[in-house]
Amino acid sequence: MILEHNMKKINNDLISVEEAQKIIFSKFNSLGEVKKKLIDSSGYVLAKEIKALFDLPSKNNSAMDGFAVRFEDLEKNKSLKVVGRVGAESITNYVLQKDEAIRIMTGSGIPNGADTVIQFEKTNNNPHKGDDYPDSVIIKDMVNKGDNIRLSGMDYKAGQTVVESGMLITPPIIGAIASFGIDEVMVIKKPTVSLISTGNEIVMPGEKLKEGQIFDSNSFAISSAIKNSGANFKMHKILSDNKAGVEKLYDDCNQSDLIVTIGGVSKGDFDLIRDAITEKGNINFWGINMKPGKPLAFGQVNLNNKEIFHIGLPGNSVSSYVCFELFIRPILMKMQGIKNIYRRKVVARVDKEIKNKDGRRAYLRVMVNKDEKQGYLASIYNKQDSNIFSSLVYSNGLAICPEEYKVIKSGDQLEVIMLED
Ligand code: AMP
Ligand code: MG
Repeated sequence: MILEHNMKKINNDLISVEEAQKIIFSKFNSLGEVKKKLIDSSGYVLAKEIKALFDLPSKNNSAMDGFAVRFEDLEKNKSLKVVGRVGAESITNYVLQKDEAIRIMTGSGIPNGADTVIQFEKTNNNPHKGDDYPDSVIIKDMVNKGDNIRLSGMDYKAGQTVVESGMLITPPIIGAIASFGIDEVMVIKKPTVSLISTGNEIVMPGEKLKEGQIFDSNSFAISSAIKNSGANFKMHKILSDNKAGVEKLYDDCNQSDLIVTIGGVSKGDFDLIRDAITEKGNINFWGINMKPGKPLAFGQVNLNNKEIFHIGLPGNSVSSYVCFELFIRPILMKMQGIKNIYRRKVVARVDKEIKNKDGRRAYLRVMVNKDEKQGYLASIYNKQDSNIFSSLVYSNGLAICPEEYKVIKSGDQLEVIMLED
């Protein structure tokens, strides 16, 4: 069963990139919530907001190693009596009296009566290890009233939102949450993609090549790209292009959030993916008006009463990678609850003339550099065929050449999708 959607037909039944994205993206939402150890939560999206459980810092404390004093007692060259010492972990109930000082270490609570901390460097006392310390101190340099005191609640006030739900958890956010003694958080689950290469000629790197065979470079690139997007992948065995292969296609896939196959989706004699999808479910669309990457199938299969979407990527290396960027990465972001699912785009001047006569949207591999005077410049890689992996290795962006432009002249401006994080 083909054509669930009322698709705009262009260029021999191919649909536009935007239409394909709209159809695919509309089928995916953020996954459910799960409890996670805070220490393992970097890169997840927070599902429930975190509020400050108490003022942070919880008490007025010293920003310096030095002496807690009463500002009104300070005078240059005056001696104050040292009546005690507090370390970061200790507190004192002593109330500071006139012309007294307490040795105080960074982070220690400010004793009652004190309103200022004067650091060691501004006295005749040096930092000093051990239990004994001088019982008086001479003020050498003045400070201002309130100096070197970190006020309670200056970071967060009790009840204040520390992290909103929907935020991507970063190392500083983990630190802020941990400050309140919280060690578990609710996060959005991460999707797992079943990744399956197809082809009688495809062999896993690490194995021995026989004549006519090639290594499976695509699943290595795509699995790494899945990982970089924050999602997980499950690498399946390479499928052969025959009935036996097709029968095994969906083995062990029903725990995954998405099935991605590579290859076998064109119009060749051995391209069996579309038939396989149709056997277990239906195809939403096949074929996108773009290059590289025209033969892409999007369908849905029923595995043990669970509906799972299947994206059949084209086999050519650059095609599969570009299609991953345009159609899969955004839905992996969406499933993780990430709000901005798109890559950054810039507008850049191209350095060469390009002809685009077949009316397809072209995604050109380019290296973008920023020039002080001319802005972004995109140099177009000299080989743009869909099997040339080096075109991606030596590029940092995909310049979008609209389908209706037959010629792009050197110096014309194109939008470029930046492939870097
Ligand atoms: P297909 O669509 O299966 O005919 O594949 C198109 C081209 O991509 C063929 O030359 C395949 O050998 C090649 N190809 C398919 N899958 C892979 C893969 N996983 N790694 C590298 N090349 C592949
Ligand atoms: Mg093949």
